This record gives sequence, C-alpha cells and structure tokens, in this order.
Amino acid sequence: MKALVKARPEPGLWLERQPVPEIGPHDVLIMIRKTGVCGTDIHIWNWDDWAQKTVPVPLITGHEFAGEIVELGRLVEGLEIGQRCSGEGHLIGKTSRQSRAGKFHLDPETRGIGVNEPGAFAEYLRLPAFNVVPLPDAVDDEIGAILDPLGNAVHTALSFDLVGEDVLITGAGPIGIMAAAVARHIGARHVVITDINQTRLDLAADVVDLRPVNIATETLDEVIAELGMKEGFDVGLEMSGNQRALDQMVEAMVMGGHIAMLGIPPGKSAVDWSRIVFKAITIKGVYGREIFETWYKMIAMLENGLDVRKVITHRFPVDAFREGFQAMLGGKSGKVVLDWG
Ligand code: NAD
Ligand code: ZN
Repeated sequence: MKALVKARPEPGLWLERQPVPEIGPHDVLIMIRKTGVCGTDIHIWNWDDWAQKTVPVPLITGHEFAGEIVELGRLVEGLEIGQRCSGEGHLIGKTSRQSRAGKFHLDPETRGIGVNEPGAFAEYLRLPAFNVVPLPDAVDDEIGAILDPLGNAVHTALSFDLVGEDVLITGAGPIGIMAAAVARHIGARHVVITDINQTRLDLAADVVDLRPVNIATETLDEVIAELGMKEGFDVGLEMSGNQRALDQMVEAMVMGGHIAMLGIPPGKSAVDWSRIVFKAITIKGVYGREIFETWYKMIAMLENGLDVRKVITHRFPVDAFREGFQAMLGGKSGKVVLDWG
C-alpha cells in the first residue's frame, strides 16, 4: 500500500510502499479515504526537538482520518464491513486508575497513532475496534477526517458553561476557529477571537459570526467597550500556545472567570500567578478528546447544524502531499485535507 512515512531522521515525509497491516482479534482494518494534516504532522515533518524525542523512525505518520471498515478481527462485535468511520487516535491502556474509573482520556499510558504507533497516512490503517467511531450520513468523509481537531475544539469549548456567556478565544488556527463555531452553536453571547495573522482572522470571520481582533493593531479593552461589556470575558479558550496571548486573556477576564487551555507553549514560560490568584481565575488544561463523550457531542452538533466546512481551505490528492504541507508551513491555511482515492 501507499503510505506517508517518516523514513529518515531529517525534515520531510516520503510516500513509500509499505505492507498492508495485519490485524489482531480485537482490531479492524480501515481503508482510508481522507486524512487531515495537523500541526503535529508539521512538527514531525520539520523534525524539531519534540519530534526527535518522540517519533520512532521509520513510522507511518498521520492521525486524522475517515475511511471504511474492510476487515474485522475474529473477536470484534458490533461493527460491520463497509461501515464508514473515523476513530480516536489515542490508544489507551485499560489498567490505570483513571481508565478503570472510565476516564479513558486521562490514561497515562496513552500512545498516539502516527506519533508513537503506525498512523493513518496510508491506504489502510489497523485500529482497535474500541477506537472506531462510526459516521452517520450527515458527516461526510472530509468532515470525518477533521473530527480529531474538531474534537479538541469541542472538548475545550464544553469545559465550562458557555450559554449566554462572553467568550474570548486566543489563536485563530483551525482549532480556535472551530471552537468559536462551537461556542456560537451552543449559545454564547459575544465570541471574540484574537490572532496576529490577519488571513486567519479573515477566515475565522468567514466561518463564524464573531468579532475578530488583530491583537497587533487593536486592544481587547477597545473591543470590550465596543461590545458594551462591563467586566470582561466569562470564559477564555487559549488556543495559541503563546505566552502573550495567555497574559492578555487573564487581563481581559471577569473576576472568577474560567480558562480552558488547549494551546501548548513551546517550553517553560513566565506566568503572573498573582494576577490569576487575585482575579480568582480557574484554569483547566485540556488534552485530546473525552473518550467517547466528546465524539458523541460533536457528531450530534454536526447533525444539528454545526458547520465547520469552510475551515478546510486546501484539498489535495495524496500524490501532491508536498503542496499540502507547504500550504500548512506557509501559516495561512485552515485545515488541509489529503484524498487517498
Ligand atoms: P495553529 O498553530 O495553527 O494556530 C495557533 C494560532 O495562534 C496561529 O494562527 C498564530 O498566529 C496564533 N497566535 C500566535 N501568537 C498569538 C497571540 N499572541 N495572540 C493570539 N494568537 C496568537 O494551531 P492549531 O492547530 O489551531 O492548534 C491550537 C493549539 O492547540 C496549538 O498550540 C496546538 O499545539 C495545540 N493543540 C493541543 C492539543 C491538546 O491535546 N492539548 C491538541 C491539538 C493541538
Ligand atoms: Zn491532529
């Protein structure tokens, strides 16, 4: 089969022939139709410090996918050949305290497909049946291929009650924009998104009814006054990984506000903890998706009018994968989707 492989410890990915994976009794084999390119894949492409420490070579990359089940392991129940599906790319253990409490997304032994284990940038993927998420007709393959990052957005956005609240999102990357769409869908009052990249702010405003703020040229104080808000944002969703964005968010929050942090700062960074204490702010770190509560909620919302299709700005056949990665590396794309035919 064709697969996009981290074949050498240097920048790039290589389209190679690889054997079709053999499945175990509890696995399924999925024929891949579409895949999404993630920021994680860009780290692996660039072969930065994190990638060098984390990713074994050679490895089939990719973790955002939609496809169709073509083979069932001997002991798999409740799934059928021909079922369209996406799936949770975090492979979890079942013995930790948190797993046994049913909080699968908090299992410390989690391993990621396309990061630690063979991934989805291939014509076929082996996946534990447990991880399969069947897709209803309302969710087509290209939306199915971006459910992993949409799930990050949904998990973060549903961390705190947003109904009737004023929401600040820092970082208008694909996940920030999708989180804004979720906040709007579930009934936030004002949704404000910041970035320093005007192309992405324009994309955000095209996808969602929100107030984009180029934080390089405007201040949040001005926007708070313009919107007639008195005391700051109720809920913050940090989706940039940028230290300055977090500082700006803390300053713009109401007393007792709630912040959910998905963005991953590159290293240690200074935090003004006294501001957080005196403003009595609650901060929650968010990792991955709740397995499988996030998936149920996200698919229900997609069936009920949540529309994130315009976040997909580039589509390429897999043979043109280099153009897809170039679009991502240029920093102006939304989601890039590769078609496996
Ligand atoms: P992205 O890099 O595409 O988007 C981040 C955006 O933040 C960019 O558009 C950038 O211009 C903007 N930004 C930079 N400085 C800013 C500032 N001072 N104020 C406002 N915006 C600023 O990332 P993405 O793919 O949308 O992912 C969002 C974040 O979530 C990233 O940090 C990513 O590493 C992280 N992430 C975390 C998880 C998790 O499980 N915790 C999963 C996926 C992604
Ligand atoms: Zn991803």
